[in-house]
Amino acid sequence: MIRRLAVYCGACDGRDSRYQKAAHYLGLNMAKHQIELVYGGGQYGLMGAVAQGVLDGHGVVHGVITKQLAGRGVTMKTVTDLHLVDDMDTRKETMMKLADGMLALPGGLGTLEEVSQAASWMTLGDNEKPVAFYNLNDFYAPLKGLLGEMNKAGFLEQRYLNSLCFSADFKEILHFMNSYQAPLRRRYKDEK
Ligand code: AMP
Repeated sequence: MIRRLAVYCGACDGRDSRYQKAAHYLGLNMAKHQIELVYGGGQYGLMGAVAQGVLDGHGVVHGVITKQLAGRGVTMKTVTDLHLVDDMDTRKETMMKLADGMLALPGGLGTLEEVSQAASWMTLGDNEKPVAFYNLNDFYAPLKGLLGEMNKAGFLEQRYLNSLCFSADFKEILHFMNSYQAPLRRRYKDEK
């Protein structure tokens, strides 16, 4: 069962205000389902919106932020619990450890880095937790297309493609996560 969900998303607002609203609504929905939020601890952009949504729904928010970013005033001060870590790698690892599943909302390179790590570690057998893309406005369609190309070109096995969820429906994402079975790790030629 998903009790804690890591949400990766933009530290910027985005041009389309629907993304902010959707992030806040996701937070409210998480609180309603008693799912705690694990996220990057920021107060700005979609990050701030999703955390505020959880807090508005009287839910629990775990922020994980680097000391450096905290020193720059990025932290959302009202989170339930804040983990201050030394660097971005520790931040990503801590978020994955705390959560039962990982969900990417629209965002930029930081979001892409986080969700790529979670997804690629699935192929290594180092991440047994589900990874999903909140595909608002078909935001992640180009990435889904690229993953399809990787598959066609023989760089990404079908089972890993099948193990990622792209959806704009929270209930569908929860169902995917709650019934998830991690795929076998990749086997290399001649591997015993
Ligand atoms: P971005 O998508 O580039 O806006 O980065 C935001 C996402 O990556 C969040 O999920 C954060 O956990 C993480 N992150 C990476 N860099 C930053 C940053 N400079 N400020 C806030 N969060 C960041």
